[in-house]
Amino acid sequence: MGALRLSHFEDAVLVHDQLSMTKKLLSIEKGQSKIGLVKKVNVTERGIVKMVDLPSEKHRSRLRKHLPQPQALQLIPEAMARKYTAIPLAVHEGILQVAIANPADIFALEALASQSQMRVQPEAASAEEIQEAIDFNYQSYEEIEKQVSNISLPSETTDEQVRLDTVTDAPVAQALSLIIDEAVKARASDIHLQPEEDKLRVRHRIDGALHDMLSLPLATAFPLISRIKILANMNIADHHRPQDGQFSIKTKGHRSIDIRVGTMPTVYGEMAALRLLDKSRAIMNLSELGFLPESLAKYEEMLKIPFGMLLISGPTGAGKTTTLYSSLNCLDLTGRNIITIEDPVEYRFCNINQAQVNPRAGLTFASGLRSILRLDPDVILVGEIRDAETAEIAIQSALTGHLVLSSIHANDAVGVVLRLLDLDIEPFLVSSALIGVVAQRMIRQICPDCARPVDVPFIEQRAYSKETGEERNQFLYGSGCKSCAHTGYQGRTGIFETLYISDEIRTMLLNGTTATQLRTQAVKEGMIPLIRDGMLKVKANITTPSEVLRSAYSVDE
Ligand SMILES: [Zn+2]
Repeated sequence: MGALRLSHFEDAVLVHDQLSMTKKLLSIEKGQSKIGLVKKVNVTERGIVKMVDLPSEKHRSRLRKHLPQPQALQLIPEAMARKYTAIPLAVHEGILQVAIANPADIFALEALASQSQMRVQPEAASAEEIQEAIDFNYQSYEEIEKQVSNISLPSETTDEQVRLDTVTDAPVAQALSLIIDEAVKARASDIHLQPEEDKLRVRHRIDGALHDMLSLPLATAFPLISRIKILANMNIADHHRPQDGQFSIKTKGHRSIDIRVGTMPTVYGEMAALRLLDKSRAIMNLSELGFLPESLAKYEEMLKIPFGMLLISGPTGAGKTTTLYSSLNCLDLTGRNIITIEDPVEYRFCNINQAQVNPRAGLTFASGLRSILRLDPDVILVGEIRDAETAEIAIQSALTGHLVLSSIHANDAVGVVLRLLDLDIEPFLVSSALIGVVAQRMIRQICPDCARPVDVPFIEQRAYSKETGEERNQFLYGSGCKSCAHTGYQGRTGIFETLYISDEIRTMLLNGTTATQLRTQAVKEGMIPLIRDGMLKVKANITTPSEVLRSAYSVDE
């Protein structure tokens, strides 16, 4: 504990001073940096740490991993920690060590001392880091259970009763907002509320995988889901049809989160899935998405072609939207008229006209695309091609001098070409309109704090050696620790398969061909298949063989 503490907080003080100075010197606005040196850095306090070139990520994970001791945490309640922007770290020889944003705040130190009945030794740390540590270390499950136990509903509950019982400060509302806070803390992208025979199961999706978070009494399902339906402007009286909606909520850390909701009746009652859309999410550069250098170069070349169609494919959650947004972002946003039709708009750009699909108002991908064509666009982004009508208009737009970017469901890059043919698009139209296709998946990255080599099953060894030509039986896996919420993984990156429609492939399409022939030709021309891209990332110690097999395995290989 000792060695860690000193160097850690000395850095933090240094950073804090540099922060205020750097802010003055460079007149940086919060949100984005104005200097050319570091592009698109979010100028949070940690962003500055990045710019002054201190090991910020490591820094943070050290705080998360080792600090604070549970017995220290118990001495100071969460509300007090938030009030003084302080977090107890450890008890050492009868002295409570506390990280605090303002170590000169005597009132805070006195309050902490009187609460803990101990002498307090303050250490300076940045306010943002402390808030993050508070969010991460104080668990709210007890509080959720407390609120849930206060939810009292008579056996015959009417919808009107629920409406009255679910005002903001009611236990139901409190419990829901705590559930959402917990999800945000755990870096979850989705929350699932699933009624089962005897309980309400609450699960989080973290880095693409579902994890059980808690079980609540089944009686809480109805009020909780009703509360969600009220917030999302759904018909609360209708329990028999699937519905969707959206609402915004402020988390305890005062971040604004947009939540897209879907409900669905099941045999045990309505279930709800909540997708958390983080407004603070930043657009990434193409180079940050995880493309191998040769695939990235190929994709960037394709993006420079002024008209034609570029498609991104993969299952839901494969990161297609992120790739589309990063692609738009590297186009000339001022010199070209860029219009999008999306479902939903997940990030708002400057200099791009974005529209959201709204079926109730008759605005679908197909009708939106037709309207866009009358607005003299240069570049069009169609969120997704789901049907023949949208596919047909998109292809026509690409053939009439527009650059069309879109996503489509297919297993791999070659599958996209065949999917278009399945949608009854003529082969000659596909071959002349399509510039290229990227198929992608998200894979979880090994947690750097608990990675260690382990022996893996034969099937993983064989899959690895098949793609890399290298025999190995040990690979890095995370054993699970606090910083990765015991999943062994932390953060995600993409794997990509980039298909360029070359003259040879065009000719093959016109003459009629099979998936296998197309794939063979594409690989001959340098396409790196998804699974090989993944195994190369295993080789680089970024991910594990099982993760690659889970995400990139396709039946016909
Ligand atoms: Zn870990």
